[in-house]
Amino acid sequence: MLEELQQKRIECPHCGHHLHLVIDTTGGDQDYYDECPACCCDIHLNMHINEVEQEVELAIDADDEQVF
Ligand SMILES: [Zn+2]
Repeated sequence: MLEELQQKRIECPHCGHHLHLVIDTTGGDQDYYDECPACCCDIHLNMHINEVEQEVELAIDADDEQVF
């Protein structure tokens, strides 16, 4: 059984600052932004729940290579 709240340690893609996140897995896959407390840049977080492995996969990017 997957824990509902998981602690993840991530690294800011802009400045390398380490952040601790608590992610809520009850809502399923999520795609959201968080702000780095060190450099105030947006961090794009993409959470995917792998139901086979019962694991949370978290993809992080700086979102600076988006083409509009
Ligand atoms: Zn940062």
